[in-house]
Amino acid sequence: NSPLSEIDPEVAREIDAELARQRDGLEMIASENHAAAAVMAAQGSVLTNKYAEGYPGRRYYGGCEHVDVIERLAIQRIKDLFGAGFANVQPHSGAQANAAAMAALLKPGDTILGLDLAHGGHLTHGMRINFSGKLYNVVAYHVADSDYRVDMAEVERLAVENEPKLIIAGWSAYPRQLDFAEFRRIADKVGAYLMVDMAHFAGLVAAGLHPNPVPHAHVTTSTTHKTLGGPRGGFILTNEADLAKKINSAVFPGQQGGPLEHVIAAKATAFKIASEPGFADRQRRCLDGAGILAERLTADDVTDAGITVLTGGTDVHLVLVDLRDSELDGQQAEDRLARIGITVNRNAVPFDPRPPMVTSGLRIGTPALATRGFDTDAFKEVADIIAQCLLGDDIEALSGRVAKLAADHPLYSTIEPLSEA
Ligand code: PLP
Repeated sequence: NSPLSEIDPEVAREIDAELARQRDGLEMIASENHAAAAVMAAQGSVLTNKYAEGYPGRRYYGGCEHVDVIERLAIQRIKDLFGAGFANVQPHSGAQANAAAMAALLKPGDTILGLDLAHGGHLTHGMRINFSGKLYNVVAYHVADSDYRVDMAEVERLAVENEPKLIIAGWSAYPRQLDFAEFRRIADKVGAYLMVDMAHFAGLVAAGLHPNPVPHAHVTTSTTHKTLGGPRGGFILTNEADLAKKINSAVFPGQQGGPLEHVIAAKATAFKIASEPGFADRQRRCLDGAGILAERLTADDVTDAGITVLTGGTDVHLVLVDLRDSELDGQQAEDRLARIGITVNRNAVPFDPRPPMVTSGLRIGTPALATRGFDTDAFKEVADIIAQCLLGDDIEALSGRVAKLAADHPLYSTIEPLSEA
């Protein structure tokens, strides 16, 4: 038995059950991944004990010689990965990275222009009861109702009309690439900063499979735990020398106290993994997998049932299933896939007629399965299972096919359960 199961068997039991859940099922929530065991080892270390307010070489606490080395490694690695001149790796999360970046660039009451939450934006891009919606004057842009792609003509029109101080490009639920150069042209035209939130697609950028926003944006923010496959956390990049100091002071002491050096160590390890050759192969399989899924979910047997995918395909790691013409709603579809061992999340689609707790969409992503080693054949199998499940096929037979895929792609083979069975 582990020390944890001796002291706290209730928590240990649930951690073991979660390990089994991740191993036995297929994780297809687009914002999730399976962090490497090495990343989790760094995070579960004695670094959790250390206070280190400040930055490497300029701390407000003694005993920071080792965490200084680690934080410098994390900073250097992430700068190298994205070609950035400056990085802050202390944000505890993507939301806090955005809060700090916005605090560095804006004053309360300033106008921001971001993608509407209902059209794929994030809470921190201006949702009414988020800090971003409370502190700033929000104007939202949308996808076009003709092709469901971000309407750049609307972005330009709203920018000219409202003269925002900040334009945010980035998304949580959108299956296509954004035109960063066009966003920057519009930002320059109205004298706005451009912030790109690459939380979802950072891993694809690191692998060279998605345009890099860093050369275009004044500031780029991200999470570390989605396609990038690291611990839960955030970071901020810029190439604007005059913004670096403002960003550091907005993170600490502006938004946060002591940095989570155990998480920063895990970020450093994840950034190292992301710079190695196997990572690009994994992101390639992730992209291919999403393409295979989109293809299967636009085949005749699926579209005949009123189910399709938004924009007709994808060029990232996720597809957005459109159930507006289906009897099945987002909640029912999510539940149906859960019954066969596939975890996804329901998601409102743009112009969704159903209420937000029900929705007419599913967001399905491939990063975690790519990490697990899924190749083209395995993704074809999972795509067919999902299609048949949505069409109402035999749950028991489909569960068996999911169990086989899971067994064929073992997860965390070096990790032992905490409690003896
Ligand atoms: N930005 C985007 C685009 C996201 O999708 C998310 C998370 O879903 C975040 C920021 C926030 O990240 P976190 O959940 O770590 O606060």
